[in-house]
Order: sequence, then structure tokens, then C-alpha cells
Amino acid sequence: QPVTRFAPSPTGHIHLGNARTALFNALYATGQGGQFMLRVEDTDAERSRDEFLEALMRDLRWLGLDWQLGHDAGGDQGPYRQSRRQAIYERYFTQLQEQGLSYPCFCSKEQLKLSRQAQRAAGKPPRYAGTCARLDPAEAQRRLDAGEPASWRFRVPSGQRIEFEDFVRGPQHFATDDIGDFVIRRTDGTPAFFFSNAVDDALMGVSHVMRGEDHLTNTPRQLMLLEALGLPTPAYGHLPLIADSDGGPLSKRAGSLGLRDLRREGYLPLAILNYMARLGHRYDEEERLRSLVELARDFDVARVGKAPARYDAHQLLYWQKQAVAELDTEAAWNWMADAVSTAVPPGKAQAFATLIKPNVTFPEQARDWAHRLFNGAAPMDEAAKAVIEESGRDFFETALDALEATGLDYTNWTQRIRQLTGAKGKKLFLPLRVALTGQRSGPDLDGVLALIGQSEAMRRLERCIS
Ligand code: GLU
Repeated sequence: QPVTRFAPSPTGHIHLGNARTALFNALYATGQGGQFMLRVEDTDAERSRDEFLEALMRDLRWLGLDWQLGHDAGGDQGPYRQSRRQAIYERYFTQLQEQGLSYPCFCSKEQLKLSRQAQRAAGKPPRYAGTCARLDPAEAQRRLDAGEPASWRFRVPSGQRIEFEDFVRGPQHFATDDIGDFVIRRTDGTPAFFFSNAVDDALMGVSHVMRGEDHLTNTPRQLMLLEALGLPTPAYGHLPLIADSDGGPLSKRAGSLGLRDLRREGYLPLAILNYMARLGHRYDEEERLRSLVELARDFDVARVGKAPARYDAHQLLYWQKQAVAELDTEAAWNWMADAVSTAVPPGKAQAFATLIKPNVTFPEQARDWAHRLFNGAAPMDEAAKAVIEESGRDFFETALDALEATGLDYTNWTQRIRQLTGAKGKKLFLPLRVALTGQRSGPDLDGVLALIGQSEAMRRLERCIS
């Protein structure tokens, strides 16, 4: 059974791109009866913050993506925060050093930059020139002993081919000669991403790594490291990146697509899950809203595409509407409560939520309806006023008298108006709707009538006569 993981760096808020990575890993693991892990990659002490970690866990849980292993959960391969694993990394640094597979690098940032520029100018891909690889070991030791700052690099073997089967993209191969000796230990002693990420996957029993395509070229490096260390290698699958609707990288607008922002706007977890699960993955019956369990059950890595997935706001909206429609009364009320509770009178919450749900996609819209129904005014725009004008005073006088006679019996009321005025269909219902709500479309009128009550309805009809 697969063990997958989400391995974020808590250096910012989670956006749609990395949430999708988390989702695919969670879906794959749970769909196959495996386990999903949260590992915190916080080796960058300067940029990592606890508040980001807290927010990230809150966002994942809000989506319903629970992890069975890892930080703040179970598992005996912890700690699951990389900042607490330095002693473990040291062991493996030492092992590589003893194997002669790593060496200290004293090159300064400026030197490295100049060297990269020179390579580029010569038309070669910029990679480490190997300056310190050729240092005499005694000389290197002398400089280390003298306290000269050094990073450590992995000695990449020359003339080899690295091959692996990417479970999303198929067979991959890389030539080691294209890969420069890379840093595994930073000058401050902390592990570089390649290193801690690969070592932890191995030690924590991760079987499948699903991550963004931007990591594809890291994989051969990590495979080399794991092989050198004699550690097991996970299977890797690289997900297509998410492009903006205009084809550019999503990250540009990542801020506006932060999960927290979507949540504040009133997007429902189920909408976001259904949307994200289709960003680069196809289901049968594409249009059907699935529960998280169904999303996992039907998730299939063979259905992950290679083409970039496009962010599409209309699609997200589509799923939001589906998800809103699925809410039961209590859930619908909870969803809109913050926005509407000051406007909706006590005792009318359930009736309001039920009535308004088919007409709103966001709590903001429910708020507008709450004000419209309960705050008396129900303002009309020009088009609405034109409807009132066209129906004329007599119509509303009749409607008012009829309401007085029938009370809140909607069917009776409208039938009576029809008999007395001869108006039917749109001619009958549209002016009534506009009179009661100020809008030309909206929730079921019988529900509106019941909700605002007879005297308020009469007041609104009178407004159309004067
Ligand atoms: N911390 C890395 C990231 O956020 C993890 C990459 C991976 O999934 O291997 O990009």
C-alpha cells in the first residue's frame, strides 16, 4: 500500500498549486488504502515560520485532507520536521564523506556567479565547474581546520546515464555529465533541499513521490544520492504545472488564488477539491460532483495528463454551484451565517437558508438577499421600476386587496389576482416579484411571501401605488 507525502516549506500561505499537489498525494494514498504524510521542510530557518505552518495545517484540514502520518499525527519515523533532524542528516553527510563521494567547496558566491556567466557565454548549461573537486585533500582539510566557510558538494560520477520510470510521464533519462556537482550541505551546516528531501523520503518509507514538474530535474540527483547512501528509492511522478488562464505561470497570481482567500470569499471545500482534482487529472463523468471519498476511490495516476493544466475561474465557479446545491439546510446556514446573521431575524434562519440557497453562489449574495428581504428597503433599479410602471396602479391595488383577503396563502392570492386582473404568466408574477423584492429574478415567491410576512408584503405593494 502506497505511502505518499506532502512536503511543504512553511514559508508562505498555501495556494492552489501546492494544494493540488497535496490533494493528488492524499487521493492516491487513500484511494489505494495507503497512508498520507505531512512532512515539514523547514530547513530554511530564516524564511520558515510557525504561523505559516499553523495556517497550512488549518487549510489542509479545512479541505478535509487529513494525514495519518507525519507532523502533528502518527508515525514512528519522526520527527517530521526537518529542522529537528539535523543529527540524522549529519550521519549521512559523514557516510558520503567517508565514501569519498563529497567534498568541501570554498567557492564564494561571486566566484560561482562569474563561473556560471562564463559557461553561459560559452553556450553551455551553467553547472558547477568543479573547482574545489580538484583541491588536494590535505589542502582542503587545512582550510577546513582554519575555519574557512565551506559548503559540501556531492561528487557526481561522470559518463553515466540515470534512468527512471516516471509514473506520470513515462521513461526518463539523464546524463550525469550534464549535472554539476551539487551542494548537499550548506555553509551553515544545514542540508540542501535535494539531500534532506531524498533522505527523508527513504527513511520515512515514502513509496510514491508526486510533485510538480519543476522538480523533474532534481530527481536524477536524488536518485544518485539515495543509491550512494544505499537507501531505498521511491517511485516518482511529476505533475503538469498549472498555467494561468492566459498560459503564463500561475504563481504570478498565486496571491489571489490563496486557499485562505478562496475560503474567505465563501468557496466550499468540496468545490475546491472537485476543481483541483481535475487540474491535470480526468475522471469518468467529468461533470459530477464527487465527495472526497469518491474523488479518492476514482483517482487513477494513469489519468494524470502531461499537458499543463489551465486555471479556469469558470470551472471553479461551476463546482462551487454544485457544492452549494449539495448543502443541507444546516450546512447552508453555517456557510452563510457570518455574512447574514445580523440581518436575518431569529427564528427565520432555516427558512431563509432553504429559500435563498438555489439563488446564491457566495455568502455575499446571501447577505444582499437578507438585506433586501428584511431591511425594508428592497431598492429597485431602473428596469425594475419600469416593470412597476408598466403594470400600473390598478394592478397593485388589486394585489393589495387580494392579499388582505387571502393572507399568506400564496396560491390563493395569485389566483385571485389573476381572476380579477386577467394577468397571467410573466405579466402576473414579474410585477409581484419586483414589488416584493425589488428584483426581476430571485428566490421562489411563495417563500419570499412567507418569509417577509403579510404586513411587510402589503407595505411593499403600497409602495407601488403611491
Ligand atoms: N519542499 C519541497 C517543495 O515545497 C518539496 C518538493 C517535493 O515534493 O519533493 O517544493
